[in-house]
Amino acid sequence: MKVLKFGGTSVGSAQRIREVAKLITGGERKIVVLSAMSGTTNSLVEISDYLYKKNPDGANEVINKLEAKYKQHVNELYNTDEYKAKGYEIIKTYFDYIRSFTKDLFTMFEEKVVLAQGELISTHMMNCYLQECGVKSALIPALEFMRTDKNAEPDPVYIKEKLQQQLEVFPEAELFITQGYICRNAYGEIDNLQRGGSDYTASLIGAAIHSSEIQIWTDIDGMHNNDPRIVDQTAPVRQLHFEEAAELAYFGAKILHPTCIQPAKYANIPVRLLNTMEPTAPGTLISNETEKGKIKAVAAKENITAIKIKSSRMLLAHGFMRKVFEIFEANQTSVDMVCTSEVGVSVTIDNDKNLNHIIDELKKYGTVTVDQDMCIICVVGDLEWENLGFEAKAVAAMKNIPVRMISYGGSNYNISFLIRECDKNAALQALSDKLFNGK
Ligand code: ADP
Ligand code: ASP
Ligand code: MG
Repeated sequence: MKVLKFGGTSVGSAQRIREVAKLITGGERKIVVLSAMSGTTNSLVEISDYLYKKNPDGANEVINKLEAKYKQHVNELYNTDEYKAKGYEIIKTYFDYIRSFTKDLFTMFEEKVVLAQGELISTHMMNCYLQECGVKSALIPALEFMRTDKNAEPDPVYIKEKLQQQLEVFPEAELFITQGYICRNAYGEIDNLQRGGSDYTASLIGAAIHSSEIQIWTDIDGMHNNDPRIVDQTAPVRQLHFEEAAELAYFGAKILHPTCIQPAKYANIPVRLLNTMEPTAPGTLISNETEKGKIKAVAAKENITAIKIKSSRMLLAHGFMRKVFEIFEANQTSVDMVCTSEVGVSVTIDNDKNLNHIIDELKKYGTVTVDQDMCIICVVGDLEWENLGFEAKAVAAMKNIPVRMISYGGSNYNISFLIRECDKNAALQALSDKLFNGK
């Protein structure tokens, strides 16, 4: 059974929902994961923000606007009066529920519930439309099987068992519809897999059912070799190794959620990125295959902080590194890049919540320098150390950009540069020009 995930823009209007319905009907049995209609989760975040600020009027204004939009979607989506009435009923139920949060105490628990409504609405609307079209579809609730453990990591054993039970409820179903993004935590409370997390839902489901393929359908024809929102002349990459895709997703390629590749990689299930607007385009296949001798793509991750710890005591000292890294561990902050010299070490972090505490602790071991508003540029491809000239080409492309750190050799697939955030666009364009466009 295949798993197909459709993102926000793919279900962003009545017309798009109809087109997705066409794509998913017929053929083998499948599980379809849907995001909220585009813009909805942002509106739910805005509503929550008003409610945190104890401004129910502000929240109600956004709720009313969003509800009006949904009424229009319902009117355009369903063909018959009977189903239009069902559609209005669905919308009314969800929006009355969202409105109920404007009257009471609002905490992070309520926020998680509000944020979950987008995926609940889109899946309910789609399932109702499929039924109007006479398709034997079944809506399986993600909140009954998608769950994280006490470390906020997905619990694969629970997911597998409970998902199987849900599938068995509908032996006649031709296809299953479920919500991306939303889950329950270890205490049974409604939670989510972070923004953009529907991709993660799809790969967790794929791994749980040993799917033959996980398809991520979005609004572009696969992973491009650079960020198409920033760089001129990007092109789709037809094939990526799991590790290459994971590096690109982690280091900023928005098309994939950073954690989505991991479950597919462990279960060795190919992931295919496809375009809802152009369903016959080949897209990108992510698998265990490596294409030798090629630099594939570039991505950038912003909001990076670099920390340098310099100490003459580091020279020949055992345990200096351990002490430094223990400080990051104790502050629940993960380190991305690391560069060392005889007298110091530079690291980068993307979460500066505990920065002040980290700096205080590090000062016990040396002189600490912090650079904020930095950006990691990640070049991905067959970067095995014995290949000649690949890293040299990437470095040459960066010749006009001040580079604070370079990391190479940590894997066979990547070389990373740390630069100032303000140089990001120029660096991405220079890399594309040199590596892909022969300029
Ligand atoms: P969805 O709503 O379907 O999850 P996203 O907006 O999360 O879609 O991801 C698709 C978008 O990712 C594209 O429209 C594109 O602008 C952006 N993007 C950023 N980097 C890349 C890249 N390297 N390749 C393809 N798309 C990218
Ligand atoms: N709807 C959620 C978001 O906008 C999840 C997703 O689209 O993947 O972040
Ligand atoms: Mg996405």
